[in-house]
Amino acid sequence: MLDFIVVGAGPAGLSVAEILGKEGMKTAVIERKRDIGRAVECGEGLTGHELKNIGFAKKFILWKGSEVELVFPTGSMFVKRDVFSIDRASMERLLAERAEANGVMMRTNEGVIGLKKQGKFWKIKSTRGTYEARYIVGADGFSSFVGSALGLYREREIIAGTSVRVKDNEDTEGFRFFFSERYPHGYAYIFPRGNGFANAGVVIKGKHIYEENARFLRENSLKALELRGGGIPMYFVMKSIHSWRSLLVGDAAGLTDPVTYGGIYPAIMSGRIAARSLLKAAETDAENLHTYERDIRSSDFYHSNSKRYHNLVYGMKNKDLELIGEIAGGGNLEDISIAKAFKEIIKKGRLASLPRLFILYNHFKKM
Ligand SMILES: Cc1cc2nc3c(=O)[nH]c(=O)nc-3n(C[C@H](O)[C@H](O)[C@H](O)COP(=O)(O)OP(=O)(O)OC[C@H]3O[C@@H](n4cnc5c(N)ncnc54)[C@H](O)[C@@H]3O)c2cc1C
Repeated sequence: MLDFIVVGAGPAGLSVAEILGKEGMKTAVIERKRDIGRAVECGEGLTGHELKNIGFAKKFILWKGSEVELVFPTGSMFVKRDVFSIDRASMERLLAERAEANGVMMRTNEGVIGLKKQGKFWKIKSTRGTYEARYIVGADGFSSFVGSALGLYREREIIAGTSVRVKDNEDTEGFRFFFSERYPHGYAYIFPRGNGFANAGVVIKGKHIYEENARFLRENSLKALELRGGGIPMYFVMKSIHSWRSLLVGDAAGLTDPVTYGGIYPAIMSGRIAARSLLKAAETDAENLHTYERDIRSSDFYHSNSKRYHNLVYGMKNKDLELIGEIAGGGNLEDISIAKAFKEIIKKGRLASLPRLFILYNHFKKM
């Protein structure tokens, strides 16, 4: 009998497992991919604040920038912030090695396909066998089997993203996000990766992702060296993120940022918070993990109504985006006068855009 089964070996699952193993808990990680950290579909971008709080990821910095540029159809603005590109595959391999060194059993090339309560524990069926564990952790990403089996989703909206390794000789100072109606609910991006390379791609709700991806690369003269695609929680409306002797972490719990869709930081931090709650519960064999949800809600990455927040920001039409571009005029977001912006919005008769602009402005300002 195991103490814990962690389903999924992304940053969330590996972060939980490492801590549980360190505390001497009998823990197994089950991952359906053959290799951990091999094919990573990711822009690999982190903010300075995220990197600082994660700590160990500093070892994997490939490139450091000093601003985030927001490009709109009629102009752009920037905000001065430290941003980093990291080697995510190596980071995941290190996390897996550390978990294994702490006695965690790593089972790759094996998918979880069934869960059943049995007395005081879970019976877990995988593509290779069955396991018994006191607690289960759903770290199985945006299409989580565990979350569905536990019946925790009210609504699950997923958005698709591409990450393309490109040759990029442009000497940019930061991450670039491109907003346009062409990228519904999302954006296009270029995150430099150092040594003349970058990760670029589009994040779009809809069917034309690969056409838009190709068009974006063409327009920016970027040559694709390697193309990957994946899903990201756009917003999840959850009944809860925990249940009887179980909880969800990272993308499985829909914890990605509702504007940028960044999810590495929430994955690692929710993993750490989960490990704390699980260890406490295991001491007394408690069935309820409600402290986990409370702690997540008070974390710096949690958005209480991410659906509403998301819909406000991404309800923008090209006219709103053009207006922001005009107001910004290439300047620093933090120097934009709210009074002047307000006047401009009234003049253009787009008062309804105000909450959207304000949220977007604040979101990047808080980055
Ligand atoms: C194109 C793209 C670009 C992105 N760029 C960024 C970025 O620049 N910065 C950032 O912060 N975030 C980015 N993200 C988001 C980030 O990748 C995720 O939020 C993050 O990976 C979430 O980590 P996780 O551990 O929760 O889930 P994942 O990394 O998805 O890991 C889940 C794991 O579970 C496994 N699994 C799934 N089902 C089962 C099963 N039934 N049994 C066993 N194993 C299973 C999967 O194989 C996977 O390895 C990007 C995402 C995409 C798609």
